[in-house]
Amino acid sequence: MTNLTTQNGMLSIESKNIFTILKKWLYTEQDIVFRELISNACDAIEKLSTLNTGDPVVQLEKGKILVKLDRDQKTLTIGDNGIGMSREEVHKYINQIAFSGASEFINKNNNAGKNTIIGHFGVGFYSSFMLADHVALETKSYQEEESAVRWDCMSDMSYQMEYCQKTEVGTEVMLYLEDSSPYLEKPGLVLDIIKKYFIFSKTPIYFDAPGYDQVLVNDPAPIWRLPKELVNEEAMNSFYKEFFQDVSAPMFWLQFGSVDIGVRGILFFRDTKNGTEELDGTIKVYNRGVYVGENIPELIPKFVNLQSGIIECDHLPLVVSRSTLREEDRQEGTMELIYECLSQEVTIAFHDMFENHRDQYEANWPNLNAFVKYGVLQDKIFASVMTRKVIFMDILGNYQTIQEYADTVAAAAHPDTIYYSSDALEQAHYIEIFKRCKLNALLFDHVIDQPFMRKYEVARPNLKFIRIDSNIESLFLGYMNPGDDAKAGILKDKISRALGDRLHSMTIKITNLEQESISTLIINDEKSRRMADMLEIYGFLNPTDVSLREIQAKSTLLINMNNDIIRYLLGASDEIAIRIVMNQLFDLALMSQQALKPEDVESFITRSESLLASAIGHEFHR
Ligand code: ADP
Repeated sequence: MTNLTTQNGMLSIESKNIFTILKKWLYTEQDIVFRELISNACDAIEKLSTLNTGDPVVQLEKGKILVKLDRDQKTLTIGDNGIGMSREEVHKYINQIAFSGASEFINKNNNAGKNTIIGHFGVGFYSSFMLADHVALETKSYQEEESAVRWDCMSDMSYQMEYCQKTEVGTEVMLYLEDSSPYLEKPGLVLDIIKKYFIFSKTPIYFDAPGYDQVLVNDPAPIWRLPKELVNEEAMNSFYKEFFQDVSAPMFWLQFGSVDIGVRGILFFRDTKNGTEELDGTIKVYNRGVYVGENIPELIPKFVNLQSGIIECDHLPLVVSRSTLREEDRQEGTMELIYECLSQEVTIAFHDMFENHRDQYEANWPNLNAFVKYGVLQDKIFASVMTRKVIFMDILGNYQTIQEYADTVAAAAHPDTIYYSSDALEQAHYIEIFKRCKLNALLFDHVIDQPFMRKYEVARPNLKFIRIDSNIESLFLGYMNPGDDAKAGILKDKISRALGDRLHSMTIKITNLEQESISTLIINDEKSRRMADMLEIYGFLNPTDVSLREIQAKSTLLINMNNDIIRYLLGASDEIAIRIVMNQLFDLALMSQQALKPEDVESFITRSESLLASAIGHEFHR
């Protein structure tokens, strides 16, 4: 052992004072100090544990970190019972390696701007000067023959090293806080920061300060790290509610992990109250137990990030963001691997739910609907498996995939045609007709269904998607009896006269339908309707401007001669009665399409009242 000598020195003579730069540059991000110093303490404990047992985890419980705030002394001390340092090691690791690490960090990142580095990892031990003008450490190495050392360093970069009386193995780092430090007034701030970064650290961390009596800060064995079979549902639900501040329990969760990539975690699938609440997830990322950030787009596929969860990685390249990613990390592709791993885990889970637990899949669907469809639109891996497993409610209240529907429709002689309704209320009339004709249709009533449909059409060009109110006559085998052509001609004249310029560019088609109850139907052409929808989306068409829309969307007025009212019109000669009845029918047909113009509503009401009056024996109001 060297004789007790006090060693004085300067950390650097040439370089400008890096502590001043650090302090100014990172001042608003004081969390970093706690993160760096406590990480060092965790590492020191892990190293000792590895030395003793060959396994970094086995003896971790014996490790202990104490963060202590002393208001009188104005010190913040971070103590550990880790591996400690000898005098030579302090010189080598603190005076040399840590110092040159901090200098290098500053030189590299000073010009890069603050936000380009994920959490500024790598700044190291000297970040402590962000909070203090004087930093000391006392340390005793695990090697018995080594004496304890005290090292003091001032913000002008001068240091002093001497032996000291510390008896337990480990290290204490003391920060002599500035008088104005907010932590002296509010020690709770320190507790919050430690919780944020180290809540899942495997080493117990205690906090001692006025108002806090050595409280355990972290949860070294959180429930989400337990093997699936040991997890208790109730406990997991309360963990989720507390950690993610949600009032409802999740619908279910997915625990995952890959030893190869060194990643594990949990995803909670939120109860959105049947899709009425928005999905807006938070995914917190930890690297070796230390919080790195949340919702990191380089790591988490967008659709996965609709849900909330925790991801823990072993080897995240932390000194990086996309723009500053080091070449070796790029080659290793750790971030991409984690990204793909998440897509795959979710894909496998959903595939399994669809194939083996269809009841559960359907029961959860109202909550999963937007998530699955967004995933299909956004993520290649998920889309490759799940596109054909997206289900839709049909008008009879059952769930079907598009293929399942296509198979049954094919059997009903409408091969490759998918009839859909975009709004069950608005299109209730057509849904009724479909049901009466023993036909089925799928409900595409979520905003995401239109882009989903376009994607599906590209993937399966042989399938035709047709809205329930489009080209509907192809559903009915309209027929003409001998002599019907002449009748149709007469009817057409009467109807054109009765409706006048209300018809615009609408064409009239007259036929006989099996369904006697149908008098008139308005049929829109799918292509021109979609065009009108697009014009509306891009702002070229005012949604309230019904007449412009009418011109854009080509429509046909279908008249069924096999209906009593139409038969009446054919035989009638009273022009006024014909006009009243025909306009009433036309209004009803428009209404079932939500296409009755506001200025026509009043005449519809007056006419309806007068028809009611006549029904109870009064004269028509002509
Ligand atoms: P890094 O932790 O990234 O190596 P630091 O600047 O934080 O960089 O620390 C430099 C070195 O100082 C560490 O690698 C470690 O050898 C030593 N060290 C720092 N803190 C402790 C501690 N609490 N116990 C033991 N050694 C430590």
